[in-house]
Amino acid sequence: MKKFIAAIVAGVMLTATFATVLASSYVGNANSRKFHYADCSSVSKMNSANRVNFNTRDEAINAGYVPCKRCKP
Ligand SMILES: [Zn+2]
Repeated sequence: MKKFIAAIVAGVMLTATFATVLASSYVGNANSRKFHYADCSSVSKMNSANRVNFNTRDEAINAGYVPCKRCKP
């Protein structure tokens, strides 16, 4: 029974992690006011304090962010 519960907990955690990765498919830079695909090379160089996650492209545009010229989100 304990093994069964542990398997469920592990499964839920894995699903939650996967959902979080999918949810933040766009990343904005609060400093430059540009947004990127989460896998754009600019995102890895971005200061984590300036990172803003967006679920959709519209969400980023409505927040006043402009698309990155490199990854063209
Ligand atoms: Zn970019």
